[in-house]
Amino acid sequence: MLVALAGGVGAARFLRGLVRVVPPEDVTAIVNTADDEVFHGLTVCPDLDTVTYTLAGAEHPEQGWGLEGESFRTIDALTRYGADTWFRLGDLDLATHLHRSERLRAGAPLSTVTADIARAWGVTTTIVPMTDDPVSTRITVERPDGGLEVLRMQEWFVRERTTPPVVAVEFDGAATARPAPGVLEAIAAADTIIVCPSNPIISIGPILAVPGVRDALVARRDRVVGVSPIIAGTTVKGPADRLMGPLGIEVSCVGVAEVYAPFCSTLVIDERDAGRADDVAATGVRPVVAETLMTDARVAAALAQHALDAVA
Ligand code: GDP
Ligand code: CA
Repeated sequence: MLVALAGGVGAARFLRGLVRVVPPEDVTAIVNTADDEVFHGLTVCPDLDTVTYTLAGAEHPEQGWGLEGESFRTIDALTRYGADTWFRLGDLDLATHLHRSERLRAGAPLSTVTADIARAWGVTTTIVPMTDDPVSTRITVERPDGGLEVLRMQEWFVRERTTPPVVAVEFDGAATARPAPGVLEAIAAADTIIVCPSNPIISIGPILAVPGVRDALVARRDRVVGVSPIIAGTTVKGPADRLMGPLGIEVSCVGVAEVYAPFCSTLVIDERDAGRADDVAATGVRPVVAETLMTDARVAAALAQHALDAVA
């Protein structure tokens, strides 16, 4: 059995490759929920949905979120009522949020609803939210006048397009959150635990912040392998660089290694970063060099195999 710690797009692309080289039902993906947000009364779980839709082969090919062949008539219609529509929700995607929200209101835990949604999409990989409790990323930014403001993740990322410089990142609710059922057991029992190429600060960070998870990983350190989401000093997609830099972490595979070193024995770094292998090793993490830019599922599958071999 394999465990994968997952954010959204980077993780989903990796997982699509992983399930080509191991039976999909042997994989448990533990997914970040600190980006979750309520829009128009509906609970939206971007990372859970990105992983589910991608494993179902139904994801939007370019966008990095939502479903392929989406239309946006409902969200556009909401502008008539003056509703905030900066967070785009597709018409088909809305069905997922309607269904999930109704189930949550009726008292079902998020983990149960998530499993049912995955089943409905024919996904046999186990998809588990990191916790059933509410955890929410809060990003403190500096305004041009020097004042500080605390934004929710989607406000900073989507509404403000990551423009305001970051001062601090916190995970509201994490201290009292409990790991979702099966999370700690899966980490303890896994042959290999993969830290997917996801944002280290706001995708992997919240999972580690759920009490018990970090310790469970530390106990399995020799079986934990990460994949660097940073290639040649830049992100492939998303704001990891705009978070790592201000938080004092080098924007490189070496910075990722420093953050992961306490719980991760091995890090797959990109061929373009082969020259940094010694610096990675100096953090106490064993570097493995491979092609990590997942241009298609075939590359992702080869990368997944590299990651598995690295700690075999
Ligand atoms: P998000 O929640 O959708 O932002 O998703 P993640 O946190 O899972 O993914 C964002 C991270 O994935 C970014 O830091 C990207 O650099 C990284 N990423 C995306 N595609 C690739 C890829 O093909 N290769 C690698 N190595 N990293 C990638
Ligand atoms: Ca995300």
